[in-house]
Amino acid sequence: MDKKTNGWIKTTCPYCGVGCGVEAKPNAKGALDIRGDQSHPANYGKLCSKGLALGETVGAQGRLLRPSIEGEPASWDQALDHVANQFSEVIRRHGKQAVAFYVSGQLLIEDYYVANKLMKGFIGTGNIDTNSRLCMSSSVAGHQRAFGADLVPGCYEDIELADLVVLTGSNLAWCHPVLFQRLRAAQATRNTKVVVIDPRKTASCDIADLHLPLKPGSDIALFNGLLAYLNKHQHLNDRYITEHTEGFCQALATASDFANLYTIAAATGLAISDIEAFYRLFARHPRTVTVYSQGINQSSSGTDKVNSIINCHLATGRIGQPGSGPFSVTGQPNAMGGREVGGLATMLAAHMTFDNPHHHQLISQFWHTNKLADTPGLKAIDMFDAIEKGTIKAIWIMATNPAVTLPVSRKINKILENCPFVVVSDCMAKTDTLRHANVALPAQGWSEKSGTVTNSERRISRQRRILPSPGEAKPDWWMICEVAKRMGYAEAFNYRHEGEIFSEYATMTTLGREAGHHNGRLPSSPDRPPATPRPLNLAGLVNLNHSQYQQLLPQQWPVYQCDQPTSRLLKDGRFATASGKARFIPTTHHQPASTPNRQFSLILNTGRLRDHWHTLTRTGLSPRLSEHISEPFITLHPLDTARYGLDNGQLAQVSSRYGQVRLRVRISHDTPQGQAFAPFHWSDSTTSLGNINSLIGAHRDPLSGQPEFKCTPINIRPL
Ligand code: SF4
Repeated sequence: MDKKTNGWIKTTCPYCGVGCGVEAKPNAKGALDIRGDQSHPANYGKLCSKGLALGETVGAQGRLLRPSIEGEPASWDQALDHVANQFSEVIRRHGKQAVAFYVSGQLLIEDYYVANKLMKGFIGTGNIDTNSRLCMSSSVAGHQRAFGADLVPGCYEDIELADLVVLTGSNLAWCHPVLFQRLRAAQATRNTKVVVIDPRKTASCDIADLHLPLKPGSDIALFNGLLAYLNKHQHLNDRYITEHTEGFCQALATASDFANLYTIAAATGLAISDIEAFYRLFARHPRTVTVYSQGINQSSSGTDKVNSIINCHLATGRIGQPGSGPFSVTGQPNAMGGREVGGLATMLAAHMTFDNPHHHQLISQFWHTNKLADTPGLKAIDMFDAIEKGTIKAIWIMATNPAVTLPVSRKINKILENCPFVVVSDCMAKTDTLRHANVALPAQGWSEKSGTVTNSERRISRQRRILPSPGEAKPDWWMICEVAKRMGYAEAFNYRHEGEIFSEYATMTTLGREAGHHNGRLPSSPDRPPATPRPLNLAGLVNLNHSQYQQLLPQQWPVYQCDQPTSRLLKDGRFATASGKARFIPTTHHQPASTPNRQFSLILNTGRLRDHWHTLTRTGLSPRLSEHISEPFITLHPLDTARYGLDNGQLAQVSSRYGQVRLRVRISHDTPQGQAFAPFHWSDSTTSLGNINSLIGAHRDPLSGQPEFKCTPINIRPL
């Protein structure tokens, strides 16, 4: 035992994108004692209920312990040979586009990196996408349009330095609880004004000075109206607009459709006095942070919603400065890290892009491959559609449960049932997705695996190995590399430990940069398109030795020198576009893709609960967490329960155009009339009542491909 640490080992929470530092120590029961890491800048020792209960969720209970082929136990060699042979055979017979990986924000950076390297770099197709597509891909697309790259400008400290914090499409109190605690503490000392924009009255409203219960899907009308208001009342930062942005006049012209408060009120359903109160607060407080999350992203116009928010920040110059900026908070522990190493089908690693031949050349040379994919692959929903059509014939699903979490989930189950070859690597034995696996591979879980994650403020932290793995569980990166070697790519995947992978990734972020050009801007030449800077730079983390990697402190990229991270981006007003200027994007208000009618007249919104995570595979193991809410439910306004003849606690049949489930009714004044809310955690295997995602349609944002989880017309009747 290390005397200095008294046996406590620093690691990172595996749940939400806050990325809290955790200290864990094995106890006599074979479990873990848990406490917050006082030194971690994401949480300074605080943990929420889920983090505090982590010790109850470790061990062998419910774990997938050994590999299997067609349900029969197999050795690792047999299973890996089989996966490699089947993938190779499908590629030989049907081409490289016939295979795919569907991965997860639960994977570590090192796992993600080698999965992306194998699929895009050596198999040669972009068909690797991640469940982060369901979570924050609209923010990624919005950032790319406005900033030229997927950049989160600010840091958590900005939320404490702001005079106004706008929470829109974010129930921060339940979904990012420690960040909410930091905001609440800051509010107590500096009287921060808080505006919550959400159709529901959520727990986040407890600290709100103003709650705007807007109509589902009307966010663009509200933020376009704000841009027009700021212009009309001369609250724009003209110098910033002129020197650091382009496209303002077009964006303002489009936003001017909502220059009239009556028009905004009609579109949003809000009282004019509330709209004005919000606009006045925004206008008055130069230090404003707008936090947004799934309520914005999970929409058929999610990317435009993101840009309508960013437009208001650009127009006031409130970006990259202490206490101000638009702030996308991610749902998963490594959603950011995954997109940085190319886990989305639409991006190459290290923020390089498919449409840039120079990037293609840099990566090909770096990986010593002539097979690098040159076009984006299929996004999540398209990938499963391709399996249904028979064009994809083999898929490897890693650390995620799409049979529960994708829209039209019953159809997804059928698609997987009919897919010729399905590999599932997971740490749990009884997920809905594993039922469809031809090959099951046991993965290490949190506290067993080792690597890095990036949180919502670009902070890279270590997850550390603390407990031995049960059964034959292995790291995800190891099994991907073993399959790669068996497919003939041994030289490129010959890593001895995860630190070597991290070092290679860090080196990749420095490609194509000249000495002294920290931001990666290169002069253009006839064979090189106009240079754009790539702020994602880990030059200070290249060539860490084993001990340095083990000791790595949490730090925000870009990292030019180890332990000298960068807390804010874009503070000099230089963006990652060819011109160096930010782009205003004209955004137009659209109704949600699926509209209510007489048969389906209620609007269903789905989301997380405070004490549960995703499909319950981990939090469901904790009795403490299950005490909060232990079964699925649907909340309705009392006028709606009266209208539909429902009592509190009664079972009801809920149906949409896509499916049916049974749910227990909860009457709540916090749910507006005409709307309903249900959590998404439960599935067919964890309840007899049904999976809420079987009600959700596959409508998605045309740019990001993110599905519209927040706006589904439903019907309900008593059982
Ligand atoms: Fe874990 Fe998120 Fe809770 Fe922090 S706020 S302890 S990262 S679940």
